[in-house]
Amino acid sequence: MPGRNRFSIAAATVILTGACAPAMRLGDGPPACASPRPHWAIPAASPRTLGVAFATPGRSRDGWGIYGDQRLRAAVAAWNALALPLRLRVTTDLASADIRVTVVDALPADSDDPEGLRRYRAGVTRLDVSALGTLRRAHVGIAERSPLGTPYSVDEQMATLVHELGHAMGLPHAEHRLALMAAQPIVTSLTPADARLAARTLALRDCPQTSVAVRR
Ligand SMILES: [Zn+2]
Repeated sequence: MPGRNRFSIAAATVILTGACAPAMRLGDGPPACASPRPHWAIPAASPRTLGVAFATPGRSRDGWGIYGDQRLRAAVAAWNALALPLRLRVTTDLASADIRVTVVDALPADSDDPEGLRRYRAGVTRLDVSALGTLRRAHVGIAERSPLGTPYSVDEQMATLVHELGHAMGLPHAEHRLALMAAQPIVTSLTPADARLAARTLALRDCPQTSVAVRR
């Protein structure tokens, strides 16, 4: 479809306060922990459900003020269809929501990003992580236009929303190019590669974290 090949979510900034324990990083023995990433605490016996709330933008060119809840429900349904141990539920209670979603006209360009990433910056996810490495809250931002003013289609914004919700659930980028969680996805919906990534990632959630900040 027109515009697909310029679609990218490459520069989502994930504020991680996490690096794995030294034994795992250095490879000098069995891994000291299962996951190097911040993760939601999930009960062993049952799925955990995260509340997701949409903050209506003051100004939206593309109908988020009217259709935001409907679009958020569609994005949440896409993840819930994978039957992961982490489920999402749309809530109107922004104050208590685990994941908050905001739509903005454009995200600011990062001065240290390559030109291409500045140009196509379509989404951002910020993770609030406890000292133990568990996620406390996630903030997702979706842009209607690139930092250079190029409009994203609503389909592209929806794909960005699903992608960023994946980060908000604690997922990293996928190496598989046909995953929506790829750093520069060429698909606009979740694929079996995303399902594999999510199932694998959410099964590993016992790693203590130390505090560092990275961008990806
Ligand atoms: Zn991303």
